[in-house]
Amino acid sequence: MTVDGPHDIVEQQRAYFQSGQTLDLAFRLQALRRLLEQIAAREADISRALHADLHKSAFEAYSTEIGFVLAEIRFTLRHLHRWVRPERVRTPLTHLGAKSLVIPQPYGVTLIIAPWNYPFQLAIAPLIGAIAAGNCAVIKPSEWAPRTAMVVQEIVSSVFPKEHVCVVQGAVEETQALLAEPFDYIFFTGSTAVGRVVMEAAAKHLTPVTLELGGKSPAIVHRDARLDLAAKRIAWGKFTNAGQTCIAPDYVYVHRAVRDAFLTSLQQAIVHLYGPRPLENPAYTRIVSEHHFHRLMAFIQPHQVFLGGQGRPDERVLEPTVLVDVTWEDPVMQEEIFGPILPVLVYEDLGEVMEALQSRPKPLALYLFTQDAEIERRVLERVPFGGGCVNDTLYHFASPHLPFGGVGHSGMGAYHGRASFDTFSHRKSVLKQTVRFDLPFRYPNQKDGLKWVKRFLR
Ligand code: NAD
Repeated sequence: MTVDGPHDIVEQQRAYFQSGQTLDLAFRLQALRRLLEQIAAREADISRALHADLHKSAFEAYSTEIGFVLAEIRFTLRHLHRWVRPERVRTPLTHLGAKSLVIPQPYGVTLIIAPWNYPFQLAIAPLIGAIAAGNCAVIKPSEWAPRTAMVVQEIVSSVFPKEHVCVVQGAVEETQALLAEPFDYIFFTGSTAVGRVVMEAAAKHLTPVTLELGGKSPAIVHRDARLDLAAKRIAWGKFTNAGQTCIAPDYVYVHRAVRDAFLTSLQQAIVHLYGPRPLENPAYTRIVSEHHFHRLMAFIQPHQVFLGGQGRPDERVLEPTVLVDVTWEDPVMQEEIFGPILPVLVYEDLGEVMEALQSRPKPLALYLFTQDAEIERRVLERVPFGGGCVNDTLYHFASPHLPFGGVGHSGMGAYHGRASFDTFSHRKSVLKQTVRFDLPFRYPNQKDGLKWVKRFLR
């Protein structure tokens, strides 16, 4: 546990950054390699911590957290030498003789604030971008996943000097103390409400931010969808991590003509994925806290339960639950669910669905199930959302070629792969002028100067 206060930490990191050590490509690659090695070596510890905090199975721990992060580091190691190069861009004729460059520059001392739902991945994935771009970083993991937060700290302190990267543990008070410091960049993952707190604090220092927030992400199942696949992929996307996934389909809009067939396929898919008694399935994740368990149970109206609905408070485990005959007036539709409850709404006119979505806060993800290219074009063109899939759920998150992020209430900025490097870099534009000649037109004392300027700018 670090004993320095937030101010000392930032001062130490700023001095380290200003020494220039992090600018060297070999230094950054070496830091990433050491991080990769340590994570690979500590895989069992990370998995155990995720099990202790959230009851995550070894399969989920690896596929959604450890393996994801290792793949991101390997991708960055392969491409970083190209990303760091200054980019030559074109120069207009008016600037004859000059060259134009865009140089990616690290911001300096960055702050990464992580949530509890993927507590390893969401602390380390932004760090990869931060150090690849040549920054120092302070990580504030979530207090709601304390075992994982401790492993993150152990790994970070074994790989990096604390002047380069360090972990500060704590909850609201400690985070607010950090936010009072003049960081050069803040990368926050968490709720929309706390996103506002972070942005307000950042505004005091004019610190740029990336906000990775949440919201209600819809899945739309159109009448021509492959229902068996739609059901399986929605069930997997929803009930992975017991629905505690920022990009989980929050609810389903299904076309009336296929509602019953879809529900039958959904039931089969859930039983196939989690067994007939999911509460006894050791690979099924728990709800993070008592507060959230009771919040979720209150959404379950017995007359709406199509499947599931039972929970065990002592173990904080809640069955994959499907609710039917749900409307926008129901409590379950008033906030992000963030748990294993899937409300199903019915539509007849896709236009009305699109209008409803356009009038609500922009979601982090949208999943459209259709085989009709025209429907796909309409929805992708007209409905705003952070990112998503056609005929799948969650998978867009795991591609290093797709920048991941929200829009509006679901956030701002993006990361993963090259986008992480770009997020943590300022693009410094530089014009390098020739000294071999000096075009006279721009100077005010030139004869016919105005005529020449007008001709040139045309
Ligand atoms: P949260 O906003 O409560 O907490 C996130 C972080 O902020 C934690 O480290 C916490 O200690 C800190 N924090 C909490 N309250 C604070 C305050 N008042 N002032 C300063 N710091 C504070 O979020 P959570 O409950 O940990 O995570 C769930 C939320 O995160 C959901 O809304 C989910 O959609 C979102 N999320 C988004 C993404 C994404 O990539 N967009 C990923 C995961 C989770």
